[in-house]
Amino acid sequence: MKKILQDLNFEELSALVAEKGEKPYRAKQLFEGLMQGKAISAIPVSAALKSALLEAYEDEPVKILNTFVSADGTKKFLFSLADGNIIEGVLMSYKYGNTQCVSTQVGCRMGCKFCASTLNGRVRDLTAGEILGQILAVNRLEGGTLKDRKVTNIVLMGSGEPFDNYDNVVKFLRLVTHEGGIRISARNISLSTCGLVPEMRKFALENIPLNLTVSLHAVTDEERRRTMPIANQYSISEILGACAYYFERTGRRYIFEYSLIAGENCDEEHALALAALLKGRPCHVNLIRLNEVEERDLKSVSEKEAYRFLGVLEKQGVSATLRRSMGSDIGGACGQLRARFLRKNHSASGADVE
Ligand code: SAH
Repeated sequence: MKKILQDLNFEELSALVAEKGEKPYRAKQLFEGLMQGKAISAIPVSAALKSALLEAYEDEPVKILNTFVSADGTKKFLFSLADGNIIEGVLMSYKYGNTQCVSTQVGCRMGCKFCASTLNGRVRDLTAGEILGQILAVNRLEGGTLKDRKVTNIVLMGSGEPFDNYDNVVKFLRLVTHEGGIRISARNISLSTCGLVPEMRKFALENIPLNLTVSLHAVTDEERRRTMPIANQYSISEILGACAYYFERTGRRYIFEYSLIAGENCDEEHALALAALLKGRPCHVNLIRLNEVEERDLKSVSEKEAYRFLGVLEKQGVSATLRRSMGSDIGGACGQLRARFLRKNHSASGADVE
């Protein structure tokens, strides 16, 4: 696999352009073209620079292979990478704009029992440019530009554990918020982690004011270990400690994800225990009804049960919302689309999934 030009920040790109004996304005031209989601071959720089770049760098490292549109307007994408790996992403439309969900790894090694992304383990980390490339490709496909973006918000909630790929993810965050590029404000970005405590603490010092989201999904360590192997490494109390540190350093509230799984974590006692755990903390709880995954035997709860759980939290004074499930008719849950694609296609040939 060749190198990825989108991995470079503006300073690195400028150095590369200078090294090739080109004028500085070429760097700006190149950076702008890349951020518009163009292939290197489609950017109007000199033929000499183009061919020098194409010798070492992938022309288009992240390509949209397929698009699926849900009845609710949610779009799901399959992307192909230069080495033939496949990743997936989603674009959800809201009143305030469009939120894109991106992947940070091919597969995942965290092993959560409810999640389709981790079914075949982790294949590899994505580079910063490959994470960014998903956004640039979708913004371009949707007719967006650098000024009039069609992707306004980002959630790092696709396949992969962002903090298991820390350096690439942080570099991506600096690239995507950079003023010369697509410039999506960190405040419009949410990063979700299964609770890698050392990285949560490290991230508190990066000065990237995004929305930190932690997948909790249980109220005791014992119960958490049943569905999330990472709970063998870090306790809920260590996670809460890292969250408190995050708030102390950044002044930013944090969010907990809590997926309601029938018979596991959604009785009234669970709601009361969750409220006791979180009461008085500067946080918000996002409840989501489990998205059932074919390969897993865990079941979701009814809407009524979900609202009952929400009601208990609210009564206890904990800020919480029940998230709408979007795009479930097109395989909305993490990793479902890729898993389905891999089942039906032994080679990444680009054949239709459905
Ligand atoms: N690795 C990160 C990002 C993962 S995806 C993390 O663990 O936070 C974003 C959220 O979706 C996480 O909270 C994850 O636990 C949750 N999730 C994964 N599979 C799900 C499913 N089938 N139903 C509901 N939520 C799911």
